[in-house]
Amino acid sequence: MVHSRNWIGGEWIVPAAGECAVVNPSDTREEVGVLHLSDASHVAQAEQAARLAYASWSRLTGAARAEHLHRLAAALESRAAEIAQLASMEMGKPITEMRGEVMRGVNLLRYYAAEGVRVGGSVIPSSEPDVLQYSRKVPLGVAGIITPWNFPVAIPLWKIAPALICGNTVIWKPAESASLTATRLTEIFAEAGLPSGVVNLVVGKGSKIGDALLEQTALDAVSFTGSTATGMHVAEACAKRNIKYQTEMGGKNAAVVLGDADLEHTVPLIVSGAFRSAGQKCTATSRIIVESGIYDAFTEALTQAVSRLKLAPALDPQAYLGPVASANQYETVNSYVQLAWEHAEILAQGPAAAGDQEGYYIRPLVAAGLNAEHPLIQEEIFGPVAVVLEASDFAEAVALCNQTVYGLSASLFTRDLSYAHRFLDEARAGMVRVNQETAGVEYQAPFGGLKLSSSHTREQGQAALDFYTELKTCAVHY
Ligand code: NAD
Repeated sequence: MVHSRNWIGGEWIVPAAGECAVVNPSDTREEVGVLHLSDASHVAQAEQAARLAYASWSRLTGAARAEHLHRLAAALESRAAEIAQLASMEMGKPITEMRGEVMRGVNLLRYYAAEGVRVGGSVIPSSEPDVLQYSRKVPLGVAGIITPWNFPVAIPLWKIAPALICGNTVIWKPAESASLTATRLTEIFAEAGLPSGVVNLVVGKGSKIGDALLEQTALDAVSFTGSTATGMHVAEACAKRNIKYQTEMGGKNAAVVLGDADLEHTVPLIVSGAFRSAGQKCTATSRIIVESGIYDAFTEALTQAVSRLKLAPALDPQAYLGPVASANQYETVNSYVQLAWEHAEILAQGPAAAGDQEGYYIRPLVAAGLNAEHPLIQEEIFGPVAVVLEASDFAEAVALCNQTVYGLSASLFTRDLSYAHRFLDEARAGMVRVNQETAGVEYQAPFGGLKLSSSHTREQGQAALDFYTELKTCAVHY
């Protein structure tokens, strides 16, 4: 049994503002641990610790901070199997995917360690004689980091690693459904000798701890990933106080299949985009837009592929997809499944989970025959449900692709270079891909969306270093 704990100023604290059992979504009869809830006083303590640590952490050289990140990477790598297993048991992501996610976290730490020695500025020639004028990238101060449960290791690390390498200190509030994994990951920070107060973990309810972070502290920046509804609330709170923020939010991503697409290449990538992680990725393929000429051949191949998908407990290495993460997710996604059975033509449904476990299993589902305004086409489902739309030509396909309030990722499948480039120009999404699935953007590339998917800032790669610093213009007369 794992117990969630706070790590504040280098001290481990079991908060006592309430507790609840954490069950394994692959088999809800199994208790994985206990979630101990914090209150606003823990947020205040964390802020004090982060401010104290900032004074020394921000003065370390980039090279010295990089040493810490390298140690974190080594510690995480040495405990990769253990943390992947705990996360799979806590939120249901299949173990093979979870292992890949932990290694992405290790790579992110190494990437930002290497970049740390390059966070600089530039010399700007002065119009005056004997003046050295230059810009420097300086840290922001204390950053609040609010993360979702669907990438319980990679998302926290792609925020925390660049924040730290730039000289900031951090208060991290993970999602309730990933708090045991957050506790374990923080134990690894402690084991790797991260100085007290540089990262402070506060576990608890979003409404309580999130709002305490936003309303009762003097944070210098907030980086949030989660739903659009919560993200808009975070953005408003930050804008009121004029602090820097980034909000990475929901998606309703389309994969467009043109008549000349290579189906052997296309179908597995669309299935993976739609159903890996049980569709619980912000970049999941949830709309599949198919040109009329290839509609029958494509849907036939898709139906066959979906009928072979293995839905199984997350620790089964053969699982293609596992359960959804929680009772809430189960209820929400099932309400969309029911809508599909009531309003749509069901093109394909994957097999039920084998075995006698009692988990939050939802069979992969592909629906069609809906008009473009239907909630299944417009709302983020965040589960193993995809809808197919038919388009008469490229222009209609792009129009359908863009007919959403979201703009996270979009893919085109074609062999025609001209359409490929037109799609890259015309698709209204932050990440546009050709002959690749909508998910899977590499960690060194900018990650983020347009419209209601993002605050228009970017995560990952160099973009994260820009977010966690601001430019100071300096001039010296000599
Ligand atoms: P969520 O919005 O429910 O929660 C996200 C985080 O916000 C959690 O830590 C939660 O506790 C916290 N929170 C809740 N209420 C808050 C409040 N009032 N103030 C401050 N914080 C609060 O989202 P979720 O269910 O954890 O994650 C799923 C969503 O995340 C999906 O919409 C998905 O598309 C999105 N997501 C986006 C990206 C991206 O990069 N764009 C990546 C992963 C997930």
